[in-house]
This record gives sequence, structure tokens and C-alpha cells, in this order.
Amino acid sequence: MNFAESERLQQLLTQAGWKETKNVQQTHLLIAIGCSIREKAENRVISFLKSNSHLKEKGTIFCLTGCTANLHKEKILEKLPFLDVICGPNHIAEIPETVENCSPGKCVLKTGESDNPFIECVPSKKDITLMVPIIKGCNNFCSYCVVPMARGKLQSRSPDSVVREIRNAVKQGIKAVTLLGQNVNEYGKDFTIDYCFSDLLCEILKIEGLLRIGFLTSHPEDTTEKLLTIMAQHEKIMKHLHIPLQSGSDKILRAMNRKYTVEKFFNVVEKTRKLMPEISITSDVMVGFPGETQQDFEMTLSFIKKVRFNELFVFKYSPRPMTKAFKLPETVSKEEKEHRHKIILDTQKQITRSILNSFKGKVCDVLVERKSIKNQRLYIGRNIQGIPVSFESKEVLEGKIVRIKITDCAEGILYGKVDEECQLLQGSQSREKMRK
Ligand code: SF4
Repeated sequence: MNFAESERLQQLLTQAGWKETKNVQQTHLLIAIGCSIREKAENRVISFLKSNSHLKEKGTIFCLTGCTANLHKEKILEKLPFLDVICGPNHIAEIPETVENCSPGKCVLKTGESDNPFIECVPSKKDITLMVPIIKGCNNFCSYCVVPMARGKLQSRSPDSVVREIRNAVKQGIKAVTLLGQNVNEYGKDFTIDYCFSDLLCEILKIEGLLRIGFLTSHPEDTTEKLLTIMAQHEKIMKHLHIPLQSGSDKILRAMNRKYTVEKFFNVVEKTRKLMPEISITSDVMVGFPGETQQDFEMTLSFIKKVRFNELFVFKYSPRPMTKAFKLPETVSKEEKEHRHKIILDTQKQITRSILNSFKGKVCDVLVERKSIKNQRLYIGRNIQGIPVSFESKEVLEGKIVRIKITDCAEGILYGKVDEECQLLQGSQSREKMRK
């Protein structure tokens, strides 16, 4: 989400006449997007700003945005007294005007909710993919999570705005979109009309020239049969579902206020795989939540082995201010968190490797995104599961779907070569025929 927002902010600033520089020492305006999901991320942005505070002497304007701005508001001035603008993520569109009008020694504060927190984006001509925020905020209040406080209550972007942006983006050459939200499955719950995420997907599916539609993140509790059926029915929808598990222990899930049980989560996985056997399911897991015993941890580990996620993002619990869990005494030491983190990472590494290995010899349809930065003879694209695929070709292929036979894999990437037989057939025969 921060990445998508920074891209949009960059566009707005360019329109307002600002130019990007890679050299921080030359900057007249320094904007930092602070993430407060974990303490480490928050500390990083604070030290980045502090380490550049000397630029203030030459008149550089300092602006802090993102979750950190909304969460701490004017209190952040205790650590960063030189800030000129503190702007929450719902007010990003106001940054160009605010920085233009701010005066030295007086910090402008723009936080809290906004009637229209979304910025419509016009992608640059070279882009193939676009991230499209469709939801801001969250109403779930998981006990460890700062998002409802940092980003506010759930706010769905209007379907018209989403569809208009994607339609314009496709005219500019965009071939794939990723719809973004803390929990995309809750899309439309704040509307007065009966309209849900599946309805939005159906509207986007009608856009001609758009080759792929993906989305992030889904809450296991709200991953409905209707959504899974639409995913299974439409070739354009990515066969990738990111559903955070967080823990394999019902006791910890309850303490986290996650609203599902391990059994229910497994049912979602089974239903998904039954409808789409080729699906890639990825997840998040947290270790060291207050009260997590060795037994709870082992339950998580054995559940991970049972489900065999394609990929897993593993986090160590860190208490965040204003959350319910913040008041709970920490029961897992730093060393033990480190230890549990490593065990899960190592286990998942083996699972991911064996899943990637199973692609060898298979043929994938790859949407080509760009040339490799390191080797200009290589292309990088993604298959329908969202897995990066690298292959060699002399043709101009950006934005095209190319059939690739997978020959090898490494960490997080597949390697292959253009499947000549299928390429010859492409365009003259149906997809089904090509598969025979
Ligand atoms: S669903 Fe839970 S973890 Fe995800 S953003 Fe909302 S409160 Fe945070």
C-alpha cells in the first residue's frame, strides 16, 4: 500500500512541478512515508529523518506521511521537531499544496479521516502493471495491529473511480492490475447499496485489453464461496490467494481477535484448492505473540507443514501502541522469538523449494513485465500464480503473454525457455487447442 501511495504521490508532485532526485543532499523537499506496522520499520523512518535533519539549515522542507504520521500526529514532533508537515495517508493528495504553503517554524498537521482519500493515477507509458488501492483502513481490530488506528476506519473507493482508473490505465498500456486493501473481501461493506468485492471484480473483468487481475489481501473469515467461484471461472483472475494465518493455535487466534479457527482456515484452503488445483496460496505468520507457548508454536509449525503454503511471510511480534495486545505482558523472549522465526522460515524454505521444483517441465503462460536489470537478454514476467519467471528472448515481448516451458528454479523464481511449439500455434488456434 505504501508503495502504491508513493507512486501516486510522486505523480502529483511531478504535476506540481517538482523533480525527483536520487541525491538526498540536494533535496528541497524531503517526504518520508513511515510504516508503523512494526516497531523496527517505524524506528527506521525516524532515524532516516534525523540523520538528514542538517538539511534544514539550507531550507529543505520536511514532510512525514504514511501510518506513522496518523498514528503519532503532533506527538512525533518530540522526536522530529524539525518537521514542516505531518500528513496522514488519507490526506496524501493534499501534500503538494500543503508543502507549497507551509511556513518555517510552524508545522502543518493533516491527519484523521478524509471524504476522498484516494488519488486517481495515470501510469507512465512504460508500465505493464499497476497497483490500485480500492480500500483504505480496516474495521477488524486484530489485537496486535495498528492499522485501524493508523489508517482509520474501512473506506471503500467508489466502483466508478476504480473502473475509470483501470480503463484509462489500459489505454496507456497497462496489462495487469493488483487491487489493494487491508482486507479486499470487505470491499463495499461501508456502501449504502448492496455491492461487494465480487461485483467489483465482475465490472473490472469487462475491461477490454486488461490481461490479468490480482488482489491483496484476503481475510480468511471473508473469503467467500462466491469470490472463489469467480476466481475459478475467469482466466484473467490471478490464481493466487494471500490469506494471513497468523497462528496455528485457536487459543492464540482468539487472543489476536482473528475471528476464525484453524479448522475454518483449513476449510478455506481445501475449498480453494478443490476449485483451483493450480492455485498459489501464500500467508503471514506471527511468532511470539503474548501467551504463545511451545505447544502453540508447534501447532503453528505442524499446520504450516500440513497446508504447504507456496510462500510465507514470518514476523516476530512487536507490541504496538494503542493496540489491545500492547497491554499484555510479553511472555516470549527476544531470543525465543528469533529461534521460532528461524524454524518456520527454514521449514517454509524447503516447502517453497519443493513446490517450485514441481513446476519443472510444465508450461506456464507468462505476462512479460520487463527486461532483467542485470542481464538485458533476459526477460522477467509472472505466471498466473504470480510467480516470477525469467527467460531469454531476442523479441520485443513487454506486455505480451508468452508460453514458457519451465526448466529450473531458484529461491522465489522460475527459469524457462520460450515454448516454440505453442508460440507457433498462438493467435491461430484457441487456448484449449494449444494445450492438447
Ligand atoms: S485485518 Fe487485522 S491485521 Fe489486517 S489490517 Fe485489519 S486489523 Fe490489521
